[in-house]
Amino acid sequence: MFFSILILLQRQFISFSNQQNNHLIFQILNIYKGSFGDQKLRTPPLMKSRSSNRRNFLKLGIATGATALIASGGNVLSAFTASENKETGEKIKLLTPEGKLVEVDKGHICCQPAGNLEAREGLPDKKMVMVIDLAKCRNARKCLEGCQKMHHLPPHMEWIKFYLMRDSEDMTPYWFPKPCLHCNNPPCVKVCPVGATFKRTDGIVLIDNDRCIGCKFCMAACPYSSRVFNWEEPKVDQNPNQAAYSPETSSPPKMGTVSKCDFCPDMVRKGELPNCVKSCPNGVFYYGDKNEDAVTNGTDTVRFSELINSRAAYRFMEELGTEPSVYYLPAVDRAFDYKEGFEGLTEEEIALYKTEANITE
Ligand code: SF4
Ligand code: SF4
Repeated sequence: MFFSILILLQRQFISFSNQQNNHLIFQILNIYKGSFGDQKLRTPPLMKSRSSNRRNFLKLGIATGATALIASGGNVLSAFTASENKETGEKIKLLTPEGKLVEVDKGHICCQPAGNLEAREGLPDKKMVMVIDLAKCRNARKCLEGCQKMHHLPPHMEWIKFYLMRDSEDMTPYWFPKPCLHCNNPPCVKVCPVGATFKRTDGIVLIDNDRCIGCKFCMAACPYSSRVFNWEEPKVDQNPNQAAYSPETSSPPKMGTVSKCDFCPDMVRKGELPNCVKSCPNGVFYYGDKNEDAVTNGTDTVRFSELINSRAAYRFMEELGTEPSVYYLPAVDRAFDYKEGFEGLTEEEIALYKTEANITE
């Protein structure tokens, strides 16, 4: 085992000698776990509503690939249990790039973010997708709050944008949350001159803020206006145990670079759901692996293919050929009156939304 770690250490050191030492070690352990934890995936059965607390989000098993769906009435997605990043008392010896032997607690290793190599590759055999149920959205913006908290974003930095939409004059308006759509054919990636923005094998489009030069070409190329510019120095608590920057966490943010919704691959790696999914009180966001044909909003776990076919899902402006990984369920049989979404907004904001949706009343 120890020799395996040493070999991995050497590979990592050659490729990424500029990484912080501890971060390098953490990566190695992550790779080590992934190398030995993979199991073949099985096709999931149709899954119905779960009664469990939606905060007990499903262990998707994406990090270790230890996914196993239980066919007989069960609908548990994974045997993988997320690690807690607590001291375990179990020490592991590792070599630093300087050749020093260090001892680290196992609990501190498992939850560190992926380094550049892993972050650029993506999660093996996965294809992450999101389904947004417009019938259940009432502009509560809890998803945004959860996202901002997790990524240390200031209030005006919004990775999820909200629009009031109306398809025709005869139709009732509806709320439309829009994160990055993680296009399979992403225009943003094509224009980046330094390879700072990239698409992974699991379909997630990320930005490496260590590489980004802030030219904003990607912002101009994105037809969905999903990207934002970091104009100011982020206000992040200086925690001595804070993990090194990783494109998977997009944190801490960097002034003078571009950022956007990252589909929370670090959460997926830990077997957890993205914060927007967990924070939404109405179960609007479903997230999961297209290859497993399963998505969940934390309460309901369903077949992805059945959900999008039975509800006539569509992808936003797909005629552009961008092939988004985010699907929308049309706002039919709505759970809320769209006016409930005006609660807590200023008159000016309401007027702006109404103008957008061409509402004159
Ligand atoms: S929505 Fe925009 S930023 Fe996101 S992948 Fe597509 S083009 Fe890139
Ligand atoms: S702003 Fe950054 S990520 Fe966007 S195109 Fe320029 S270098 Fe690439």
